[in-house]
Amino acid sequence: MCGIIGYVGTEDAVPIIVEGLKKLEYRGYDSAGVAICQKDGFAVVKQEGRLNALEARLAERPIAGHMGIGHTRWATHGEPSDANSHPHVGSRNMIAVVHNGIIENYRQLKEFLEKKGVPFISQTDSEVVAQLCEYYYSGDIMEAVIKVVNRLEGSYALGIMCLEEPDTLVAVKKDNPLIIGVSGHGQFIASDVPAVLKHTNKVYYLNDKEIAMLRKGDVRFFNFDKEPLQKPVETVTWNIDSAEKGGWPHFMLKEIMEQPRILRDTINSAAGGGNGTVIGRLDVARFNKIVLTACGSAYNAGMVARYVFERLCRLPVEVELASEFRYRDTVIDAKTLVILISQSGETADTIAAMREAKSKEATTLAIVNVVGSTIAKEADECLFTAAGPEIAVATTKAFSAQLVLLYCLAVRFGARLGKLAEKEEREMLAEIDGLPDKAAKVLEQIDAIQKYASACVVYKSIFFIGRNIDYAIALEGSLKLKEISYIHSEAYAGGELKHGTISLVEEETLVVAIANCERLYGKIMSNAEQVISRGAKVLLIGNCPYAEQNGKLSGIRLPECADLFSPSLSVIVLQLFAYYVAANKGLDIDKPRNLAKSVTVE
Ligand code: GLU
Repeated sequence: MCGIIGYVGTEDAVPIIVEGLKKLEYRGYDSAGVAICQKDGFAVVKQEGRLNALEARLAERPIAGHMGIGHTRWATHGEPSDANSHPHVGSRNMIAVVHNGIIENYRQLKEFLEKKGVPFISQTDSEVVAQLCEYYYSGDIMEAVIKVVNRLEGSYALGIMCLEEPDTLVAVKKDNPLIIGVSGHGQFIASDVPAVLKHTNKVYYLNDKEIAMLRKGDVRFFNFDKEPLQKPVETVTWNIDSAEKGGWPHFMLKEIMEQPRILRDTINSAAGGGNGTVIGRLDVARFNKIVLTACGSAYNAGMVARYVFERLCRLPVEVELASEFRYRDTVIDAKTLVILISQSGETADTIAAMREAKSKEATTLAIVNVVGSTIAKEADECLFTAAGPEIAVATTKAFSAQLVLLYCLAVRFGARLGKLAEKEEREMLAEIDGLPDKAAKVLEQIDAIQKYASACVVYKSIFFIGRNIDYAIALEGSLKLKEISYIHSEAYAGGELKHGTISLVEEETLVVAIANCERLYGKIMSNAEQVISRGAKVLLIGNCPYAEQNGKLSGIRLPECADLFSPSLSVIVLQLFAYYVAANKGLDIDKPRNLAKSVTVE
């Protein structure tokens, strides 16, 4: 899930590329590099490690030029090292390439080229693209690129420069995102919109198997038969401030604090704004089953939504990890509604699940944050979360936007099915409408949460428990904590503890118990007592009337809220808790180790 960027225009490409890479660093940060096309060859500077290491390198060895490409890597093939960093240049020093994706048949291609005497210097799959392109180049870069991509298996978004055509930047993609930005001073390619927002909000979304030829003054599009294509230019509504830290110590904290507004915007979009009536053309009576599929936090949003859909629509609901869905012999058919959830709309496993569902004639409905993304384009129906660009690798506001959109969808679905009376529908929607203000109230408790979390760095293990929908949101609390604090954590259904996990509970253990389901208060409190009597401490989040707080039990109260929608409030406490534990450990919160956002590889 590397980030790639390229520029051709009248300005110096280097600062533009480095700035752009900063906006893409969430996609990977094993190494970074830039290549500039100069009269006598490519000037390439690349460096293992974070982008600031590349900046330091560039300060020692400045380069400049009007056309260049850049890359920030999340290694898939070959360790993070200078040699494996992109851009890769062919052995004749004629073609330079940045690549996002995986070339699955790179071994065969490498063998083929090695037999022809081509020397390789990296362990990456990506280098074959540069070498193969040189092999095929005979005076026409588009021709060579088409020959190359016709031999590639796997996924790619590519930025390619040819020394002999120093005014042309080539972009091509399959199964990985790539946008083309156009501005008064030049043209851009990028993996994601924030990388170009400073210069333009006019973009083209490149589709699979399309080639873009960028020159200083224009962009032209072609298919693999070299036939010209007409594409609409789109105007992005995201503003540049939302991709800036704006004085906050981390994007994650900024994005947590933005949630009341994001919830409001998403609710508005579901009430006749950007998302129409949410339920749109869906023929709800046709479905006898709903399957929610996603990865990571989006999967946890699906877990929450299962309880909501079951209660409001009275249909069987399954939740499936997208990475498993595609390899199971899932029983779905034309009567199944498959709901896909993905912030980026480019999650490779979720794309595969969508295609699998479509091949079995299920109806696919996507919930995504990025307009123009693959899932947005390919799903039968698409609803957009109004989260704006999310930069921190650990999702917060996009997750909350997914949740609230799923609530709106479930209420409308249930109403159209006739499972909810008009009055109930109105009451539910009013309840959802109250969430942004309640979220703001939760945020007012930031100091108390910070104080509590700051003392929690000592724990070796933290467990999260809940029952019913509280269990679903406990999964997200646990994921958030382990993603950014590196403390071991697991989430369990409260009733499951005694069936095994309780053996792990000892003095050094914290159990975070979420308690918003009134009918289960007693049960979750019993679970809390059980772990306290075995030495654990408990943090209780929710509305449950607390047992007396003491050295063993602490609590964060939430505003009154219908249990079905309470995960939107609990999650804010869980996010802040994870954030402050990690902050107190001095960790790199926005870019946790080994992780990257927008997981575009399998
Ligand atoms: N496969 C390439 C590499 O390891 C690109 C990885 C990616 O896009 O995540 O360098």
